[in-house]
Amino acid sequence: MKAVYSPLHARHDGGFELYRGQLVPTFETPERAEIIRAAVAAAGHELVEPREIPESRLLGVHDGEFVEFLRGAFARWQSEGRQGHVIPSGFPARGLRRDRRPAGISGSLGYYAFDASTPIVAGTWDAALAAARSAMTAAAVVSEGERAAYALCRPPGHHAARSTYGGYCYLNNAALAAQYLLDGGCRRVALVDVDYHHGNGTQEIFWERDDVLFVSLHGDPETEYPWFLGYADERGAGRGEGHTLNLPLPAGSGWIEYEVALETALEATRRFAPDALVVSLGVDTYESDPISSFKLAGKHYPLIGAALAGLGLPTVLVQEGGYAVAEIGSNVAGVLGAFAD
Ligand SMILES: [Zn+2]
Repeated sequence: MKAVYSPLHARHDGGFELYRGQLVPTFETPERAEIIRAAVAAAGHELVEPREIPESRLLGVHDGEFVEFLRGAFARWQSEGRQGHVIPSGFPARGLRRDRRPAGISGSLGYYAFDASTPIVAGTWDAALAAARSAMTAAAVVSEGERAAYALCRPPGHHAARSTYGGYCYLNNAALAAQYLLDGGCRRVALVDVDYHHGNGTQEIFWERDDVLFVSLHGDPETEYPWFLGYADERGAGRGEGHTLNLPLPAGSGWIEYEVALETALEATRRFAPDALVVSLGVDTYESDPISSFKLAGKHYPLIGAALAGLGLPTVLVQEGGYAVAEIGSNVAGVLGAFAD
């Protein structure tokens, strides 16, 4: 299968993040993408560069002022005399105003970010745009008739919403792929998110829409990031009522529990009868992932790939998380290999 990869990802290297109250080296590193690239190439998939898809396509799922903010955030940070990486330090919690976007960089950051683990550096915009273009290029390849394509997106995307970023995500690559398929003639697209974490951004983007089914299997937000979205009682609203399905599993869940939830997700997808499938492919469900708590083993990733392929749909697989760097390549290649077979 074609695997869309851009070397521009390496321009985003966040350095440090605030993780559970500790300033630690970022888990979301350039090395992740390079290990996946090597594994995917070794498995015989064809690496291709993303196309120069116009930036205006971002506005299919993102707010224009938000996109403008991301593009210019690092320059503004520097022009206001700040040093180092761009990290927010205050957020509009309950009781504070959310209808105003303050003019200064600190207030703007609190307005658009929802955590302090997603630094912006000089090259973040270039990398995020390349990842978005990679996802849309994979969607274009599938629109043109290929059964499936993979986008090696870095930074990941599923936590980024219409006008907020966080969770190592800036632009929502999977949502952009789904919108691209819809704009290309699909009537309905299912988006299945198998990353360990709830795809809160994707859920928000499609919350009131009935042309996208969003299904997410993830660690229970009672204890797992992103904590404030991803509960089973969230089912969409308006025209989107019933088009969101959250399947939270307790931290510590293994393949037995996971397989049941995956089958529930696939059954909901079949009932929706989509024209195409987008998969938010995180492999942070792996047993030795440093920031996650499921217990999947390497042998389970081909089972996930085969199950997804069994839907028989044109499919775009979009890379999300996965922080057990030594095994990330083999786990991703395991999914893709089984899918292609
Ligand atoms: Zn994740």
